[in-house]
Amino acid sequence: MAQAKTDDCKHCEGLGYVSIRDCVGSVQYESTCQMCGGTGKNEPVDNE
Ligand SMILES: [Zn+2]
Repeated sequence: MAQAKTDDCKHCEGLGYVSIRDCVGSVQYESTCQMCGGTGKNEPVDNE
């Protein structure tokens, strides 16, 4: 029973970026995760 930190962004697994691969897998580049804005943290929404 591992206790994973829930504050890590699940979209990029806390990396802050996501690897984009072309359909053929030849072109790869890293794009900033738009889910966490590149922080790698799953920040709570505090817009109030
Ligand atoms: Zn992210």
